[in-house]
Amino acid sequence: MLLQEPRTPLRLVELPDPQPGPGQLLLEVRACGICRTDLHVVDGELPDPKLPLVPGHQIVGRVLAAGEGCELHSPGDRVGVPWLGETDGSCRYCRSGRENLCDNARFTGYQLDGGYAELALAREDFVFAIPDGYPDLQAAPLLCAGLIGWRSLRMAGDAERLGLYGFGASAHIVCQVARHQGRRVFAFTREDDEPAQSLALELGAEWAGDSMQPGPEPLDAAIVFAPVGALVPAALRACAKGGTVVCAGIHMSDIPSFPYELLWEERSVRSVANLTRDDGHEFMRLAPQVPVRTEVEPFRLERANEALDKLRAGEVRGAAALVMPPGESAAASAAQPGRGPRA
Ligand SMILES: [Zn+2]
Ligand SMILES: [Zn+2]
Repeated sequence: MLLQEPRTPLRLVELPDPQPGPGQLLLEVRACGICRTDLHVVDGELPDPKLPLVPGHQIVGRVLAAGEGCELHSPGDRVGVPWLGETDGSCRYCRSGRENLCDNARFTGYQLDGGYAELALAREDFVFAIPDGYPDLQAAPLLCAGLIGWRSLRMAGDAERLGLYGFGASAHIVCQVARHQGRRVFAFTREDDEPAQSLALELGAEWAGDSMQPGPEPLDAAIVFAPVGALVPAALRACAKGGTVVCAGIHMSDIPSFPYELLWEERSVRSVANLTRDDGHEFMRLAPQVPVRTEVEPFRLERANEALDKLRAGEVRGAAALVMPPGESAAASAAQPGRGPRA
């Protein structure tokens, strides 16, 4: 499913089979999670995507072939491909353990073709082993919603009372991890979003309610997943002294001005950008221990536009992912002479 131009629907097209270069894996995509960042790319809210582009950066795939020099993975392995597609390994950020901020990073489904396809390429040193026990569909949201959520949760420090603003793919995972760590979780959603509120309560939040109002008691930290700038002062207002508001998204509408007293008393606002590979390996070890269970609505590859529309309208409960049913995948079509894989 190809993006030709931002703000136009994705188109089902046939592309030539990608060939793995040195250090790259060729993957048969089994599932690809749909992330709000994909919407920002498709809707033209992020600058300069590769065009045309195959979106998608939560890929669960089987290795079909390994390029020259690959040592970590071999055909048959199941791996996950995240947003961080490659870094230069040499800039000041890479050299100081902050490859998420690399000056020359390239991102999957943004500057590199992603997983809304039957076949994908990935650098083998940027993929993760998928924990056993997770079906492909359920594993897909771990790869961004889970990873970025995990990094955001770490930035919340040791906050006991945690607010989650926007209860979608990421929050529904973070809620489980936070409860596992013994934190108390408060879910803030649109006032009338009953499906999200009931999901939050099922997953261990002790309260769910209107995001524009303070919760039943002050928060020690809040993570803002929804791309709505007005939630930042609302979250600050809901925080106790010393509280931290973590903005987890890549894009947000403008933050309205607010009185200094909301920031006073050592409250802070910070963002989380991208992920490091250490975040990924750490979270993939943690997920089965919790154990994180993901609620995922599947869509067939060719229904990607419909899935994006649903996410845009806030109508997805938990996470959404594209699936490539076995038997219709690239491997199957490659076995039929004269029929190339569809992208
Ligand atoms: Zn770098
Ligand atoms: Zn993402």
